[in-house]
Amino acid sequence: MLGLEKGQLVEGSSKMRKKLQGKTHAVHTGEKPDEQGSISPPLVMATSFKIHPDEVGFSANDYGEDAPFFYGRWSNPTVRRLEEKLAALEGGEDAVCFGSGMGAISGLFYHLLQAGDHLVLPNICYAAVLESAHEILPRFGIEVSLVDTSDIEAVQTALRPNSKLVHLETPCNPTTRLADLRAISELAHKAGAKVSVDATFASPIGQPNFELGADFVIHSLTKYACGHGDAMGGVVIGARADMDALRKDTLVHFGAVMSPFDAWIVGRSLHSLHARMAQHQSNALAVAAFLEKHPRVERVYYPGLDSHPQHDLAKSQMKNFGGMLAFRAKESAQLANQLAESVQVFTYAVSLGKSKSLIFYIPTEDIQASSLRMNEAELARYRDWAGDGLLRVSIGIEGQEDLLADLEEALA
Ligand SMILES: *Cc1c(COP(=O)(O)O)cnc(C)c1O
Repeated sequence: MLGLEKGQLVEGSSKMRKKLQGKTHAVHTGEKPDEQGSISPPLVMATSFKIHPDEVGFSANDYGEDAPFFYGRWSNPTVRRLEEKLAALEGGEDAVCFGSGMGAISGLFYHLLQAGDHLVLPNICYAAVLESAHEILPRFGIEVSLVDTSDIEAVQTALRPNSKLVHLETPCNPTTRLADLRAISELAHKAGAKVSVDATFASPIGQPNFELGADFVIHSLTKYACGHGDAMGGVVIGARADMDALRKDTLVHFGAVMSPFDAWIVGRSLHSLHARMAQHQSNALAVAAFLEKHPRVERVYYPGLDSHPQHDLAKSQMKNFGGMLAFRAKESAQLANQLAESVQVFTYAVSLGKSKSLIFYIPTEDIQASSLRMNEAELARYRDWAGDGLLRVSIGIEGQEDLLADLEEALA
């Protein structure tokens, strides 16, 4: 016996939550010693658990808040510990982990939305979200509006009586465009819609999403939460009743569960989240400043730079500007080839939020054809920002001088 009931884990944390700093939550929350007293949490790979017939029925619908661990697709002690830590870090009541960031986003969308409902999405956000907005959500009768969420009036105009959810991504992938969480949450709530925020670029400590008005916070745990590029996961954080309903509805029935092994890795990695994010941020500031002065670089976008079009908003809603930046050059495609062949400390690869610095080129024509699918006016605005393409850079936690020297040489 672990001595860890599903309810107890969360109970314990809410009592302590007010008293503890985020850094302490990152290390301690969800890590109550088990009966052996081990100071690191056990990795429980079991997919089912010994119970009594009185405790729980066979259907997910009988699975209440205080139900014991029962079957791995419902919940697992190791994953549950991670959910507790993530909820505490974001300042939410509870959390549900999924097998990937897309699992979490899809889980929330298909839980909250049904045929006839309307969803507001950013016209620039994670590619797979845009692709599902174009191809999958409409198949289920869900209406989608893709809007420029850096424009509060555009969001206001998009809202309809049947709008159920405004989903934001800030900073957004790949341009680092921001959305004003406080202003948009206010107008969405007035219109009767909920607000979800994919805060993956900001990390679980980058901005106080709930204080700013969000109802649901989503992270791809594959990125900064894991931080080392070796585990996948996603999470939705929100009110306890909402999380119970989400778990039953689309975790149990769609089945995109997180592996306990990956949950164990992410939980362990979160111990160092604050230290890592401080280093990501200081490295990113230095690289952004370096690129800004480089003669081959045309524009650099990093929320922490004075020159970011929404720097004032970034300062008012972000606590850490993160490690993600984007830049464009006079001949971005050619430069991308050159960088891919010559970087030594950076790696030319997709994904982000890892200890290693990564760089990846996103041509405007490609992203327009595959996921943006913007009209002419919107595409002109995207080109104003991104030109023919953006080099997306995920700044790691290596030595700053080495990162700068690597770019200096590779850009020569
Ligand atoms: C990577 C990413 C996702 C998807 O996460 P996966 O874990 O790869 O499914 C969603 N949103 C953003 C902003 C991302 O960067």
